[in-house]
Amino acid sequence: MSKYQTFIGLEVHIHLLTKSKVFCACKSAFGDAPNTNVCPICMGLPGVLPALNIEAMRMGCLTARALNCTIPETTWFERKQYFYPDMTKNYQISQFASPLGQNGWMEIESKGVVKKVRIHECHLEEDAGKMIHTGNVSLLDYNRAGVALLEIVTEPDMASGEEAELFIQQLRRTVRYLGVCDGNMEEGSLRADANISINLPGKGLGRKVEIKNLNSSRFVRLGLNYEAKRQAEVLDAGKQVIQETRLWNENRDQTEIMRTKENAHDYRYFPEPDLPPFKPDAEFLASVDAMLVELPLERQRRFMRDYALPEDAAAALCEEKALADYFELVVDSGQWTVDSIRSSR
Ligand SMILES: [Zn+2]
Repeated sequence: MSKYQTFIGLEVHIHLLTKSKVFCACKSAFGDAPNTNVCPICMGLPGVLPALNIEAMRMGCLTARALNCTIPETTWFERKQYFYPDMTKNYQISQFASPLGQNGWMEIESKGVVKKVRIHECHLEEDAGKMIHTGNVSLLDYNRAGVALLEIVTEPDMASGEEAELFIQQLRRTVRYLGVCDGNMEEGSLRADANISINLPGKGLGRKVEIKNLNSSRFVRLGLNYEAKRQAEVLDAGKQVIQETRLWNENRDQTEIMRTKENAHDYRYFPEPDLPPFKPDAEFLASVDAMLVELPLERQRRFMRDYALPEDAAAALCEEKALADYFELVVDSGQWTVDSIRSSR
């Protein structure tokens, strides 16, 4: 047991399952031939005008609702300026001052222990293209540029790699239940970055390190537990943790330095002049609420209560919405009764 307290926050990016990209009509799909789903808008050519895909906004707000966030009366987009070859515009359209979801929370539960993780915000933005490094050249595929991305940012409320893993699993189940994301971490449709700091109890947050490249929930757990141990060794040696960005190396099972962080990046955010602010009206909000479903953790608890199932069985049945639906269909058909399920255990 470490003498330090650990603080973990997550930034999770999910690809929304819209048919087209967030600001143009290009197809949003994984695995198509490189640079086939592109147009002047998502390539950022001069003089083009983006237009908001309302389905992306709806899916974003639906996720925000499921995460108990407040949807503001007005939400808008900003330009986040930086240069990178995978983004031809030299800025990303994102949200900064008024994200579509604010101040929410999601519960995680394991072995009857419930923890509430606060959600700082959910914001809608466009994804960048993809760089493929092969031999001594780098190739660029812009099919992903402009795909609708929802970033979910938590407060540093998790205290171990296990809790962070549980959060990712719970969030993945949730967005799959909602039908807003396929949750495929291998294909990058759900990606997580983490920040972690440790400190002596009562001393507040420590100096934080960011970890990127956590492309499975297992790597989230392994990467964060490795990092908590590494930071404890630094402090035990009387040194200070350096604020930096590290990468999880899955081949060596360790985090490695990627870059030292200067102070906060200056992205020179300013309101996107080509997109009007979005004011969700009653009709829009009603359409969002109509898409809400019973969420996996609620359903799991109901299964445990109503069918007297143990946690692991209820969790397994509720992992996929289709399986949970099927289970209830069979029970409702009268072929099984609650008593027969109970007595068969
Ligand atoms: Zn396009």
